[in-house]
Parts: sequence; structure tokens; C-alpha cells
Amino acid sequence: MRPEILFPLFAPSSSLKGVGPRLAPLLDRLAGPRVRDVLFLTPQRLVRRSRSSVAAAQEETAHIFDLVIDNHLASQRPGQPWRIRAHDDTGFVHLVFFGGYGQSLEKQHPPGSRRCVSGRVERFGVQLQITHPDYIVPPERAAEIPEVEAIYPATAGLAPRVVRKLALEALARTPELPEWQDAAWMKREAFPAWRAALEGLHGPVSEADLSPASPARRRLAYDELLAHQLALAIRRADRRRFPAAPVPAGEMADRLEAALPFKLTGAQIRTLSEIRGDLQSGERMARLVQGDVGSGKTVVAMLAMSDIAAAGRQSVLMAPTEILARQHFETLRGPLEALGVQVVLLTGRDKGNPRAAKLTALANGSAAVAVGTHALFQDDVVFQDLALAVIDEQHRFGVNERRRLLAKGPDTHMLVMSATPIPRTLELTAFGDLDISRIDEKPPGRTPVATRAVPASRTAEVVERLRAAAAGGAQAFWICPLVAESEESDLAAAEKRAVDLRAVLGTEVGLIHGQMKSDAKDAVMAQFAEGRLPLLVATTVVEVGVDVPNASIMVIEQAERFGLAQLHQLRGRVGRGRRESACILLYDPPLTETGQKRLDILRRTDDGFLIAEKDLELRGGGDPLGLRQSGLPAYRLADPAAHRDLIAVAADDARLILARDPTLENPRGQALQVLQALFDWPVGATGETD
Ligand code: ADP
Ligand code: MG
Repeated sequence: MRPEILFPLFAPSSSLKGVGPRLAPLLDRLAGPRVRDVLFLTPQRLVRRSRSSVAAAQEETAHIFDLVIDNHLASQRPGQPWRIRAHDDTGFVHLVFFGGYGQSLEKQHPPGSRRCVSGRVERFGVQLQITHPDYIVPPERAAEIPEVEAIYPATAGLAPRVVRKLALEALARTPELPEWQDAAWMKREAFPAWRAALEGLHGPVSEADLSPASPARRRLAYDELLAHQLALAIRRADRRRFPAAPVPAGEMADRLEAALPFKLTGAQIRTLSEIRGDLQSGERMARLVQGDVGSGKTVVAMLAMSDIAAAGRQSVLMAPTEILARQHFETLRGPLEALGVQVVLLTGRDKGNPRAAKLTALANGSAAVAVGTHALFQDDVVFQDLALAVIDEQHRFGVNERRRLLAKGPDTHMLVMSATPIPRTLELTAFGDLDISRIDEKPPGRTPVATRAVPASRTAEVVERLRAAAAGGAQAFWICPLVAESEESDLAAAEKRAVDLRAVLGTEVGLIHGQMKSDAKDAVMAQFAEGRLPLLVATTVVEVGVDVPNASIMVIEQAERFGLAQLHQLRGRVGRGRRESACILLYDPPLTETGQKRLDILRRTDDGFLIAEKDLELRGGGDPLGLRQSGLPAYRLADPAAHRDLIAVAADDARLILARDPTLENPRGQALQVLQALFDWPVGATGETD
């Protein structure tokens, strides 16, 4: 139930004055369907206008002039602007209008009338001019021209000034809300009250007010972060209320571990014991294992699965693609079957009798472990007693898919694995409802991938090197970027690259891209994995997690277009076998300073967590971290980079609040319920287990 006090903010944004059928859809797209969404638009910059005479005007500067209109110069032919000549005591200036304004301007501003005019001054030949003045008003309305004006995001058909007016109207409709922040914390941070903070947001008077570090913006960011963290904490607390039968650590897992051809790393041992702690706790596990590609997550999952099998129960390992599922199956089958645990592989390819036999093995419990793809979600896949679901590359699955899988058991523990390293602070944002284990140590004996940045002008040398390496039996990936002009043109570029490389190298070259059906993709990937193709050209990210130990060279074209985290992931595809490996980052010079720094970081380190941390520091626009892919929500007021210090505080705050007042009943709790509703988070227990 939405608190009544919020009704004005949840009125449709089309109810704002001046929003008719033409503007409503534009506003909806720019901000959202509610008044609140318009209220949360943030100005991007300021325009300052100084009063000036024409003679004293500075070019490329916004001024306010007192002018007398002389005459109108109609456009002579299409494409030419309509011009108004005007003057003050010191000189002449032309007001220029493109786009067929015509006679109406002449009526509004007849020759001889006095007007206050503002806009950016330009010089056109010897002529001073203002193209599309922001304001032309009679002297008695001069006060309407603000000397400092906040500029809002806009869209075609919806000008920044109109957006500003709407935002200010939304602000006028905004009630005072009960304070949900802790008084001592507010004092320490010099936070204004909520409504005052919004006034600050929409009434900036200096650049400092636009900074994410301004107290008003930090306050609003903190509200949003706290609301999110509270929602996550509530979800966590909900899950705790569902018991799960404790699963003891088994002697079977010890035998399995002893039979491994290597010793677990310290990080793997720690992660395994955290998982076992959960399995024995009597509560349902919901744990994320974060670890770089190659850090050895699968082995840890396998040991947990053997504990489950030893307890006479079942587990499932879900992979996003068929080829990955197959690889996991091959990894697990040997060691587990040696201990008498039957493992089945279930993918979309299974049909008819063989499929029926696998389903029977799962339904009657004779198979304790299932490995597979989305095919596992289907309703006729029934387990005798599913106790653990392991989800690899979790960002590839939606929450609903996860739920469907978990619902196949009475009290299914969930273990998700991710190879997208993200900075610690952001972990809380993306996965605050999960417990997190980090495998932050790589198995010993890996030689780091030699990484070089090479200008594209030297592509021919790189190809030459490839030819030599391929002759020696090496395999290579060649990644073409998504330039995003259109998928077709990207595809064409990759196809051309594949043809060129085929010609130069004189060998088969595989091609894999986003528009291929997954079967076809899997087939090419499998050929490459089996060593039947020396070179694989790919447009999009090579299937996450695929292990091709013989692949030792990664070439990335236009590396400057990829995010750091993505480059790191791609590089992680090589350096898995015994060969010396190399990663070549081809770039189009000149690199920006940030571009240079980013490539330098990659050359210096292969620690995914460190790279993610640095990437956040250097973050430009867009989504260079691939956060969207990793499930991070899009905030409106908080900036995960600029406000990262607030994220951890919000997470602590949320847990503390719930510990003291689990149902949000006390006065602060009730105010917090308003906050939750303001950001569309469910208030109180959701009754969901995931
Ligand atoms: P991830 O899924 O984290 O990318 P994997 O579990 O696929 O990594 O492991 C990558 C490779 O490293 C596998 O071949 C695995 O057998 C091996 N491996 C895992 N743990 C260790 C270890 N502690 N020591 C040596 N090799 C290991
Ligand atoms: Mg893996």
C-alpha cells in the first residue's frame, strides 16, 4: 500500500501543467510516467547570463541585452534563416531563427519595440548574432530572465527549458516528508532535509551545487542507496525464515579432494568452508562466489555437491550455454562417478527416449547430480529431492529462471558463481541480498598473459605473428568490437576480417557472432575447442567461461572501445594451458589519456578485482564496467562511482535498522516505509524466498 502522503508524487507526469498529448509521451520517455520521475531529473550544467551592451559583449558567452528592434529580414529561400536586426546605444546585433518562423515573429516583436534579449553571442563575419535567443521579453518582464539557469536533460521536441519548468512544478507539488535519516548521521554529513535537498537539486546557483559531492546531492543519493539496501536486507531476512535441513560436510568430499591432481588454494578452502557453514546452518543458503576466470570455482562447487550427494540428496549445476554445460559435465563426471555418484547432462539437444531415461534417473533419485542448460527449467524435469542449485555465470539468468529452478526442491540452497569481478563497494549494490565469498587467489603455476597495446597500423605484423604461431599448433581468438552503429555493419566487419585472415593465413578460420543461432554458435565453438580450427573470429564476447586450454593468443581489435572489465574477461580466455600466452590490444590512435591509462592497467596487472577497482576510478560515461550485465540497478540520484563511500554505510545502516525494528513499525521505521514506497521497493516482508 502506497502511503497517502506520496499520492501527489505518484500522479501521472502528464498531469503537470502544460503537458498535453504531444509532450506526454516525450516526458514519459525522458523521465518516466510519474511526477516523481520528473522530480528526480537532475540538471546537468548551469548557464550564466551577464548583462552587457552590444559593444562590450564577449563571443561564445551568454548575455542579456536591452535592445530596440529595427527591422525583420525575411528568409529569401528555404534553408535561410529569418533575421531580426536590433541595436542598443553601442551597436547592432542580429537575432537569427532557422526553421520557418516567418510573420509571427514580426507580429510579436514589431520594429521600434524594446526587448530584453538573451542568448549566446556569436560572430558571423563582421556581424554579431544570437542564434535562437533563449529569451525575448518586453522590458517590464526582464525579471523572467534568470542570470543563472540550470540546464536539464532534454530530448527532441522537449527543450531543456520546458523540462526545467516541469521539474520546478513537480517540486512545487512535493510535500514535506517525515525524516527517515538518522539525526546524528545527518548532522555529521551536513545533510539538508529531504525537501530542502530537492530544492538544492533544482535551484543550483554555482557549479559546486551540481557536483555529486554537494550535500544536497549526497543526501538524495544516500536516500536512494538506503532504500535499495533496505529492500535487499528485507529480502535476506525473508529468506532466513525458511528453514533447510542441515547438510553435514561429508567424508566423500574429503576423498574427492584427496583425489584431485592439485591442492586447493587458500581462497578455495575458505570459500568451501563458508558454503559448508551455510549448508549446516539450518537456513537456506544464498551465496555468491566471485572469482576471476580460472580461479577454480567449479571445483569448489563440485565439493559442495558431493556433500549433498553423501547426504542422499540431489544437486543441479546450471550453465548458460550448451557448450559450457558440456564442459562442466566432463569436469564433474569422472571424479563424481568414481565415488559412485551418477551425473546426468540435460540440454535442449536431449530428445525422446534418452531424455526420458535421464528424467527418470532424476525423478527416482538414482542420479544425484544434474548438469545442464535452460532445458533444466522445464516442468517435466522433476527431482526426487533437490537440495542445491549451483548457477554458473549468474548474470545470464533472470530472477524468475532462478526461482523456477529453486522451486524444484523443498528447501533448495542456492549457490551462484560469477566471473565478473566488481569492486567490493559495488558488490553490495549488485548483490546485497546474497552472502559473498571471493576467490581472490589464482591456482599456482599460471604464467601471466603477456599483454601488449599495438596501434592498428601494425595489424599486418600481428597477423604475421599469428601465422607463425598457428604453424606451431597454437590457437587464437580474434575479437572484433561492437561498434554499435548497427549489428549488420559490425557483422560485415567481422566477416570481412575472417575472409582476410583466411586468405593471409591460408587456414580455416571460424566465425561466431551474436546473430547466429545458439546451436550454430555451439558447433563452431566446439570445433575450436577440439582444436580443429586454429583461429576463431568473434564479434561479441566469446562465450563466457569456455575453456580452450590450447588457445594462447587473444587479439582484440579497437580495444579502446571495450570496457576494462570486458577486456580482462576476454584476456582470461587464454593463459589456461601450458603455452606462453599473449594478449594483443589493437587500438586506433590517438588514445585519450583515460584510454591510455586503461590499457596500461591491463598491461600491469591481471587481478580482476584490482582492475575493476581502477576501472571505477577511471569511469567515464556509459557502462564500461559492464555493470548492467552484472545486474546492477540503474540509480537516478546516486552515482555508484561518485557515491561509493555511501554504499557501504547504507548497507550497514539497513542491516542495523532491520535488526532493531524488523517490521519498520517505530517512528523512524514508518518514515522508512515512505522512503521504500518512494523508490518502488516493496515495504516489509515479500514472502519470496529469492
Ligand atoms: P573458473 O570456473 O573459476 O573459471 P575452473 O573451476 O574452471 O575456474 O578452473 C580452471 C582450471 O583450474 C581447471 O582446469 C581446474 O581444474 C584448475 N584448478 C582449479 N583449482 C585449482 C588449484 N587449486 N590448483 C591448480 N589447478 C586448479
Ligand atoms: Mg567457470
